[in-house]
Amino acid sequence: MRRIQHFIDGQHTAGSSGRVSDVYDPATGKVQAHVDLASISEVDQAVASATKAAIGWSESSLTQRTQIMFRFREILSSRTDELAKVISSEHGKVVSDAAGEVARGLENVEFACGIAHHLKGEINEQVSDGIEVYSLRQPLGVVAGITPFNFPAMVPAWMFATAIACGNAFICKPSERDPSAAMLIAEWLIEAGLPPGVFSVLNGDKEAVDALIDHEDVAAISFVGSTPIASYVYERATNAGKRVQALGGAKNHMLVLPDADIDMAADAAVSAAYGSAGERCMAVSALVAVGSVADELVQAIANRIPAVKIGPGTEPEAEMGPLITQEHRDRVAGYVERAQQAGAVAVVDGATADLPSDGFFYGPTLLDEVTSDMECYQDEIFGPVLSVVRVDTFREAIDLINSNPFGNGTAIFTRDGGAARQFQHEVQVGMVGINVPIPVPVAYHSFGGWKASLFGDTHMYGPEGVRFYTRAKAITARWPDPASSQVDLGFPQNQ
Ligand code: NAD
Repeated sequence: MRRIQHFIDGQHTAGSSGRVSDVYDPATGKVQAHVDLASISEVDQAVASATKAAIGWSESSLTQRTQIMFRFREILSSRTDELAKVISSEHGKVVSDAAGEVARGLENVEFACGIAHHLKGEINEQVSDGIEVYSLRQPLGVVAGITPFNFPAMVPAWMFATAIACGNAFICKPSERDPSAAMLIAEWLIEAGLPPGVFSVLNGDKEAVDALIDHEDVAAISFVGSTPIASYVYERATNAGKRVQALGGAKNHMLVLPDADIDMAADAAVSAAYGSAGERCMAVSALVAVGSVADELVQAIANRIPAVKIGPGTEPEAEMGPLITQEHRDRVAGYVERAQQAGAVAVVDGATADLPSDGFFYGPTLLDEVTSDMECYQDEIFGPVLSVVRVDTFREAIDLINSNPFGNGTAIFTRDGGAARQFQHEVQVGMVGINVPIPVPVAYHSFGGWKASLFGDTHMYGPEGVRFYTRAKAITARWPDPASSQVDLGFPQNQ
């Protein structure tokens, strides 16, 4: 059986804890590898290597960092297909979707290629007689990123590209379900010229996460995953005195007004609800149909579902792959069963779809007549299940979205600019799409939800990422004639 180790000090490093976890091929349901799970002493080893590397790396020139980032960008771009196949084999998403994930991760590397510009400080000349004040941004040291299974390349790239370019050493703790993408990235960063120890991969579970959080030489924690764990990581890491950004789960609403183009809205709903089998933090999982639009829209979505091609991710024709584990597949099926018992109408039930016999497949599901008190509306199902909530007015739709505890992404479909303007202004959600179903911001803006979708103060990547991975220093300087010097015990005042 293939063994996936750690990547410490620039090389694959065998685990010594004796603990491993199974890595499945979700399309066949078979175990394809074992991944090492780090113990506390292995966390110590990785942090020691990163701490040593961070000293030299923080002194590297911006030119050197930029050149390495450009070289890595070329490697990643030219090997997108290779990485996409690895992602698909462990995650299950179709290869074309995995290639899309890599392309979005690449944007963060491209942003990091411009690090010299992003790290420019500010200066005021002559704040007082002969005095300048200027600010610098300096790296934190060793920072760690804990990432979810659903974007095994893109979410690490949200973090490490900026963290490293800012002069930090970065330790990635990928999901134990699909760790190989991070390992490939580690190899390619070395090939691009990154010094050993600046990027490490520590495979593991809760034990590794807790040890990273508690380690006194780790300055900051970036986390992306489910809300209960994000909340836990935020609390534990802030108690340990760390800087933390912890992104959690989501329930993303797509609001459709009666004036919307029905075909366009139905295309968008199918794409955003069932792409990657619904295992996206920005997937649309609740469709809010306002007034008369509901019947026609539900029918248009139902008509499209049989055309969605389900199959192993490596099949060129396939558009939707399996779910990540059998346990998760059964959990999704349980939600759909209970939704019907609670009164929802399964217009299309994924359990009855024509699915491959092996693997963790579940078909696209469309639930109508869902109400906000139902479990299928309240929970993040994280599968190919779209719940339709019918409301009478635009006001009711906004109130529904704003009363949801999550606030990651949302979208409105309309031809009315005034309604869209009101929506973007009033909705309590961090990322908003106007006729755009999955509004993931480009790399030079920042990514982050509101409410239970984000714990911490800074969003991820982009300008907020630069702020997160650096600390500011303000310098007040003067070069007076020593002859003018005198003792003055008063508090310094600017003239
Ligand atoms: P998860 O919370 O189970 O795991 C995320 C990470 O935390 C993994 O590395 C895992 O090993 C670690 N972990 C799991 N349990 C832990 C524990 N008890 N203590 C410490 N660490 C623990 O999430 P997942 O199932 O891998 O990913 C899916 C979730 O991530 C969904 O809820 C999805 O919405 C969310 N997500 C959010 C965003 C976002 O940007 N907000 C992006 C992607 C995914």
